[in-house]
This record gives sequence, C-alpha cells and structure tokens, in this order.
Amino acid sequence: MWGASADDEEKRGAMTRLERELTMRVFSMNRVLILASVIVLGLGPDLVAASHDLHGFHWPHGRNPTTVRLGNNLSGAWHGILATASADWSADRGYPDVVNTTVVAGRSGSGQCRAMAGRVEVCNADYGATGWVGLATVWTQGKHITQGVVQINDGYFQTGDLALPTGKQSVMCQEVGHILGLNHIQSQTCMNNSAAGSAFVSPYPHDNEQLARSYGHKDSKKVASASAFSADELAPPNPTFDALGGATRLVENLGGNRYRVTHVIWAP
Ligand SMILES: [Zn+2]
Ligand SMILES: [Zn+2]
Repeated sequence: MWGASADDEEKRGAMTRLERELTMRVFSMNRVLILASVIVLGLGPDLVAASHDLHGFHWPHGRNPTTVRLGNNLSGAWHGILATASADWSADRGYPDVVNTTVVAGRSGSGQCRAMAGRVEVCNADYGATGWVGLATVWTQGKHITQGVVQINDGYFQTGDLALPTGKQSVMCQEVGHILGLNHIQSQTCMNNSAAGSAFVSPYPHDNEQLARSYGHKDSKKVASASAFSADELAPPNPTFDALGGATRLVENLGGNRYRVTHVIWAP
C-alpha cells in the first residue's frame, strides 16, 4: 500500500529531480563525514550530528497527519516505555500535526526483528556484547521510508543509568524519532547525541518543527515497496566499527536510489 514506481516520481517534475540530485550529493557527503569522523580522524559523531534532518527522510503520505505503526515485539518491561515514546512523538508542541505513531501487535518476534513493509518492528533481546545499546534502521526509496526496525540490546540495560526508567525512556524516544526520519542533534531532546542513557526522555519543539518541514508536502501517490529490497538487504545490520560513545548515523547506498540508514547508540 505504500508502493509506487520510480516512474511516478519522475512526473513530479524538475524540482524533484534537482532535489534528488542534491540528496545524492548529501548522501555521498554524509558517508565521507562518517568515514572521516569515525575511522580516520576519530572525532566522534559530532560532524554527523550537524546534519540533523538534512535528508528530510519521511514516511510517504497522501495526507496529513499520517500514522506510522510501531509493531510491539517487546518483553513486558518495555511496553509502557514504548507507549510513552509513541505518545510523546504524536504530540505537536505548537507545530502542524503531520505525523503520529500508534503501537500495534508485533509481527517479527523479538530476536530476529525482521523488517515488514510499510511498518516498524520494535524488538528487544540480549544481542550479546555488540557495543551498541540500540539500533534504529530505516529502509528508504529516495527520501521515502518504506519500513523500519528498532532493536534494543537488553544486555546493556542491567546496570548504571540505562537500568533506570529514564535511561530506557531516553533510548526508546530517540529510536522512534529516528524511525520518523530525524537524525541526532546536540540539544535538550532525546535526539541528543550524548552517551546512552541521557537525561532527555522526550522530544522538544524543534523536533516537531523538523517533522513539519519533512512532512509538509503531500505525496501524490504512496511510493516504494519492500519488494524493492532483497532478503539480504533487509537483514538488520550489526555495525562492527569501533564504539566511540555517543551516537552515529550510517547511510548505506543499496543502489537504485535505495538506502539503508542505521542509527547507532553506542554502549557507555
Ligand atoms: Zn514525500
Ligand atoms: Zn540515535
């Protein structure tokens, strides 16, 4: 139901093509920034954080507000946390009501957390000593998000700040924000790129301002379908590069104007 072809998008005119070209350029740039900051210069995620909302990733929508379904595959302790995050991201904070979230029954099972077309699967499991506390992954056709997965690594939530309700809430809040298309930002919001378990447990008005911008247009048709992705591409990634603390966005070009965007919260 989210699907349409690249042909449909072509009809949207020269402005769209220009926008896409710019997007491609920004993708390449972002990739360079990530490589430079994480691998070469060791500067951490700050350069990446500067690009908050740069891409304007969004769920395709024929009208506003649109509703993004969050499939609950979580164990009991996380149910209230997800419900609060969903309500937090559905509040408007003085900006236009462009996108809301709703919690629905999960379909993927907790561990594997397989992506499902047109919706989000939210999972928790002890994924082992991965170095990451949480992953939020979206698959996109151009700027349009076609599906998403949130994975919470329970192994890291037993001690310290992450064992506190605020630690859990800050992580889940950030993951849902990513699912709606937002990047990290250095400010007083759960999208903050500080270490896992920050004191910021909810969005702030600027997040809604960004969403209003990304979702401000109407898409003429629902676009992009999961069948555009191979089974291998649909596997949630497991980032193996060194943990630096804080948070990282990784953009992988899958070809054909398709991207997998992974947001990592590193273990403290
Ligand atoms: Zn759109
Ligand atoms: Zn993040």
